Amino acid sequence: MTERPLLITAAVVAPMDRPIIREAGVLVAAGRVIALGPLSEIQRSLPPHEELHLGHAVLLPGLINAHVHLELSGCDSSDSPGGGSFTDWIMSLPSRTRRLQPDYAERLAVAVDAGAKQCLRYGVTAVGDITAQPTLTRPLLRHGPLRTLSFGEVLGLAKARERFEKGIEPAIDGQMAGDFLRIGLSPHAPYTVDLPGYTQCVNLARQSQLPLATHLAETSEETAFLRDHSGPFREIWDRLGTWHDDVTTYDGGPVAFARSVGLLDVPAILAHVNYADDDDLSMLAAGRASVAFCPRTHAYFGHPPHRWREMLERGINVAVGTDSCASSPDLNLVDDLRLLWRKHGHAAESDALWALATTNAAEALQWSGRLGSITPGKLADLTAFSFIGDVDPLGAVLEDDTALPIATWVGGKRIS
Ligand SMILES: [Zn+2]
Repeated sequence: MTERPLLITAAVVAPMDRPIIREAGVLVAAGRVIALGPLSEIQRSLPPHEELHLGHAVLLPGLINAHVHLELSGCDSSDSPGGGSFTDWIMSLPSRTRRLQPDYAERLAVAVDAGAKQCLRYGVTAVGDITAQPTLTRPLLRHGPLRTLSFGEVLGLAKARERFEKGIEPAIDGQMAGDFLRIGLSPHAPYTVDLPGYTQCVNLARQSQLPLATHLAETSEETAFLRDHSGPFREIWDRLGTWHDDVTTYDGGPVAFARSVGLLDVPAILAHVNYADDDDLSMLAAGRASVAFCPRTHAYFGHPPHRWREMLERGINVAVGTDSCASSPDLNLVDDLRLLWRKHGHAAESDALWALATTNAAEALQWSGRLGSITPGKLADLTAFSFIGDVDPLGAVLEDDTALPIATWVGGKRIS
């Protein structure tokens, strides 16, 4: 027996590809959005259906986290190494995730499950997930209900170059792909993947139509490492005992490096881009890559102000991500928007902020045809928040620090 269509009504529907609609409804059937509009119009031509009334709530498309590491969800950002150094932080991850312990696979499964549950609880129905353990995480994520674009992460240069080579095959293995899981590739960062490695990843992604993601310009030290292998990233490789001098250098900074390896010619996700000068913005604006800005992680490391608004003004697609629980208190993506709201917000900007977690994030993850807005034909991934007042419903949800979704659907199925 096929289920009857469901009409979800709310004081406000925020489709995100058009202005908000008051006293509105969204008709869902067979996992997709069939129609939406003001109740006064939509009710005239409805087939037999069920109804759910959300009351004084705003119904949004399911939120999309453009950059997360679900497998690090067992970490606690408050349990950070002293000194606030990024390199000390990154070196602390193996012990914090107990990567070398015999029960690592079980711990990782618990972390992935906890991360996915957090996402759904916070109204996030799709993620761009970076995984260094694709053979372990993908079987856990393949059946949803969270939709995952799983970027298999590869890294290793100098004497550890073999690790990069060996990582490619499992990273791009498409066996687990399906309705809830897509496969992508992520060369980790310019201080862990050399120039030929990046070029190889871009070529592979082009041949196999794989989405790409990388960490870029996350710290100011990437430039020195690329230029002459100096600075704290080199110290890491020395400490690991895996350095040799036969690694390519690049004088021009991480964004120009990304352009030189072809990353800006494809719709890649560039996580962070915390350091970008005017020339970098021009290069990004001329390219096709998106920036995944992680506001609370950015604040955690105390980086200088992010240029995300200038990026948007120049036509660069900017989405938000949380990054992982190792640098963010949790995976509540709305709290990342709230941080921006408190810093920059005024009434006119609330829809632009929500775009970072919906339409822009869908574009970044190459999901725009199916997700990111409440549009007839797209998947019925939805989330709803109660709000106080009437003037700016989307701003009111950001204003209320404690507001959590009152209901969330994936493919028309209610999951909370
Ligand atoms: Zn990251």
